[in-house]
Amino acid sequence: MDVEIAKLAQLSPFELKDELIKLAGSVENRLMLNAGRGNPNFLATIPRHGFWQLGLFAMREAERSFAYLPEGVGGLPRLVGIEDRFEIFARENAEEKGVNFLAGAVSYVRDHLGMDASTFLYDMCEAVLGCNYPVPDRMLRSAEPIVAHYLRQEMVGAYPFIGEFDIFATEGGTAAMTYIFNTMRENRLLLPGDSIAIGMPIFTPYIEIPDLNDYRLKKVLIEADPAQGWQYPASEIDKLRDPAVKAFFLVNPSNPPSARISTKTLEQIATIVKDRPDLILLTDDVYGTFADEFVSLFAVAPHNTILVYSYSKYFGATGWRLGTIATHSDNVLDRAIAALPEDVKRELDERYSSITTTPRDLKFIDRLVADSRTVALNHTAGLSTPQQVQMVLFSLFALMDIPNAYKAAMKRLIRGREHALYREIGVTPDANPDDVGYYTLLDLGDLSAKAFGKPFAEWLLRTVEPRSLLFELAKDSGVVLLPGTGFGGLTPAGRVSLANLNETDYAKIGKAARALIERYYLKFNSNKNT
Ligand SMILES: *Cc1c(COP(=O)(O)O)cnc(C)c1O
Repeated sequence: MDVEIAKLAQLSPFELKDELIKLAGSVENRLMLNAGRGNPNFLATIPRHGFWQLGLFAMREAERSFAYLPEGVGGLPRLVGIEDRFEIFARENAEEKGVNFLAGAVSYVRDHLGMDASTFLYDMCEAVLGCNYPVPDRMLRSAEPIVAHYLRQEMVGAYPFIGEFDIFATEGGTAAMTYIFNTMRENRLLLPGDSIAIGMPIFTPYIEIPDLNDYRLKKVLIEADPAQGWQYPASEIDKLRDPAVKAFFLVNPSNPPSARISTKTLEQIATIVKDRPDLILLTDDVYGTFADEFVSLFAVAPHNTILVYSYSKYFGATGWRLGTIATHSDNVLDRAIAALPEDVKRELDERYSSITTTPRDLKFIDRLVADSRTVALNHTAGLSTPQQVQMVLFSLFALMDIPNAYKAAMKRLIRGREHALYREIGVTPDANPDDVGYYTLLDLGDLSAKAFGKPFAEWLLRTVEPRSLLFELAKDSGVVLLPGTGFGGLTPAGRVSLANLNETDYAKIGKAARALIERYYLKFNSNKNT
């Protein structure tokens, strides 16, 4: 077993999880409790009902053309009169779920956002039918401003934000990461041997990608302090003052500790950026929507920050693959590209010459789009159009939810699970107003000290290999957690996702963890007595 564990220690936490699942599932007639998955077990229903209803309306539109052909041939929707036809559809189907939401969405787009409702309806029908390439490739014209409003609401809120930003709709947040790393390399913004700072602990791909042969970047680790509610100490953030650090990649709120960065720290970064206007920031804010009045680094340092957002977690939509990359219209990336040496610029002119006659004016965000299809296939780039429709409907759903009822339900759900877990462990976690509670870290030292005192905790950390506890939990109780250290955490901990199981399951996981600690406490006492 020990040799096995040593071998398994090389695996990313996500691969290790598969080994734990095998163990947890090895006992017949026992329920496996897999809290390793970040995938939510809830999903937003109303905007999905809206999607299907929009699909039905779009089918009516399609079947108005070529009606003389009985073989199942339809045509594109027609702009003229579409708003009236939609009103008839909405009235006829008022009883159907999703129709009221959809009618409200059309009214919101027209009456609140000031967009042309016919154009919006036409674009959405065409998109949901999937009968055209995504044009413009970066994002559909009717989709981008709506998603921009949503990102402003959730990521900027009341924070003053001047100017506009561009959005690239991607196949989830992970595709966004891949595209960003690739385009930064192609455009010489990151070269092999360059240093990037990484906010730790972090979603593991951000640790693994820089090491790949493709990138070979040096990593400067910015360590969050668990004793300070997982905030970054000022001295850690000051590492960004080193001009050798080209970029800072972070997840906020973090994964796995699920703590959002304090406004003080965000403003410290903004101050550093004033002294170092060349510093590139990349913030992955997937979990921002689970916080109250969240403020992104994108709001605080807009000219230097690439914002990555994903619809996967908040809307329970991992299978939809919906993500966005946003950059301010005046940003450090375009400035850095403009400042490249002439020979490099000429090389890049060549790279992008097939898609524009003025390649030097091609923005970083449009280079991302082109590079996502190896430039040559730029004309087929972009997120599939039905995906963009669901993205728009998720966004409108959150924008129209003035009392924030969905957000309150999300928070109630995941926080109730957290309480059930700790109640059964018999330990109260330290209060942390910045904790958004999507994950929680069961810190071995902290839990065992709180349960049975410091001497026991010290003995436990000295005598057991923390990962072996995760194997014991899986084998004995069927409980699967991910190793917190695999995410770059410094203290041995198990990551519990609070998204994936029901409240009673978290109570069972709490019980299993308690039983495990108690077993070791017995050993500790009998060791003392011999
Ligand atoms: C879950 C998660 C994502 C989601 O990525 P998708 O590709 O959109 O599913 C992105 N970033 C972090 C930090 C995550 O935890």
